[in-house]
Amino acid sequence: MKINQEQLDQVNKQISRLTAADSFYGKRLKEAGIFEVKTVEDFTKLPFSEKKDLRDAYPLGLMVAPEEEIVRIHSSSGTTGLPIIIPYTEKDVDDWGEMFKRCYEMAGITNLDRIQITPGYGLWTAGIGFQNGAEKLGAMVIPMGPGNTNKQLQMMIDLKTTVLCATSSYALLLAEEIEKRGIKDQIHLKKGVIGSERWGEKMRKRISNELGIELYDIYGLTEIYGPGIGISCKYDSGMHYWDDYLYLEIIDPVTGEPVPDGEMGEIVITTLVKEGAPLIRYRTHDLSRIIPGECPCGSKFPRIDVIMGRTDDMMKIKGVNVFPSQIEEILQAFPEISSEYQIRISHLDGRDTMRIYVETNGSVDFNALSKRIAEAVKSKIGFTPLVKVVELGVLPRSEKKSQRVIDERYN
Ligand code: ZN
Repeated sequence: MKINQEQLDQVNKQISRLTAADSFYGKRLKEAGIFEVKTVEDFTKLPFSEKKDLRDAYPLGLMVAPEEEIVRIHSSSGTTGLPIIIPYTEKDVDDWGEMFKRCYEMAGITNLDRIQITPGYGLWTAGIGFQNGAEKLGAMVIPMGPGNTNKQLQMMIDLKTTVLCATSSYALLLAEEIEKRGIKDQIHLKKGVIGSERWGEKMRKRISNELGIELYDIYGLTEIYGPGIGISCKYDSGMHYWDDYLYLEIIDPVTGEPVPDGEMGEIVITTLVKEGAPLIRYRTHDLSRIIPGECPCGSKFPRIDVIMGRTDDMMKIKGVNVFPSQIEEILQAFPEISSEYQIRISHLDGRDTMRIYVETNGSVDFNALSKRIAEAVKSKIGFTPLVKVVELGVLPRSEKKSQRVIDERYN
């Protein structure tokens, strides 16, 4: 999805503000002698920004608007070192609310809905983001925050909550609790808006079946407003995102070059109208792809696929970038194999090799099955793995997805 003229004009405004404020990015542009982008090519030459840049700017180095215009900060829960502080102007808060309102509308949620918000409130962008959008929509907000399952269920029943906003794991916990207590007939939920962590199809089905609701994936990150910059629609074919506020690119995470629409890579985001802390070409390390063509829902907003993982999970086999989730997706199309699998990557005779171990029961022709799986990988990803089919129960059981991929090349 190439950047258009209007978006380029907006980027130029952001560039002049960043340069004037002498922020880390403004400095970087000055060093590179860039003061303007005129063409698509100019844009793709702009330097990236990284999480590390944001962390180095702690505490308020990202602030580009004057102090008197800043109304709030949010912070990302960094796992290591200093957190990232993002300052917001009144307009930023308002724009974010507008985007989030669109998300609810995309999900068919209206001002007659009652929205129970279970993500946390505080420094991070979760709870308050869900709330802003819901208030803009005119819906009734039930601002619970996380935890206290008894109270959650009591409110859900007594206030006849129709929409649940939650992480996938908390939605599942509530679903199981409702099942266990046998109170499903007292629950009025119709829809769930679920945070964008990567979650499997099986978990999705369980939540949706046990609660009897439609689920919508919402996307966002604190560095770029917060949740609400994109959401899936009822056709569940990727997530629409708001390209009047943001420009999204997909790049090859190794070379940094843009990849064609439809191909998997890293999401890179440029804010087009942000005032407090604009970001240009921010590398999210989230993996997805642009979904080409129009959505059956008719919305003109472009789409990215659901998040397929993180760039850190990427492997390079025979010159092809591969993500474990791609292999997983292919394996899911074979009903005769169990949900357990193992991927081993090794370097043999000067070449990278991938071996995939899958399980099935004795009634299947192991050789034919292994051939079919290898062919599916070849046609979808572009190289041929070695596929080993084993008896059901042979592979080690593990909770953690990461243990299913073993890279033996660097051992
Ligand atoms: Zn759609």
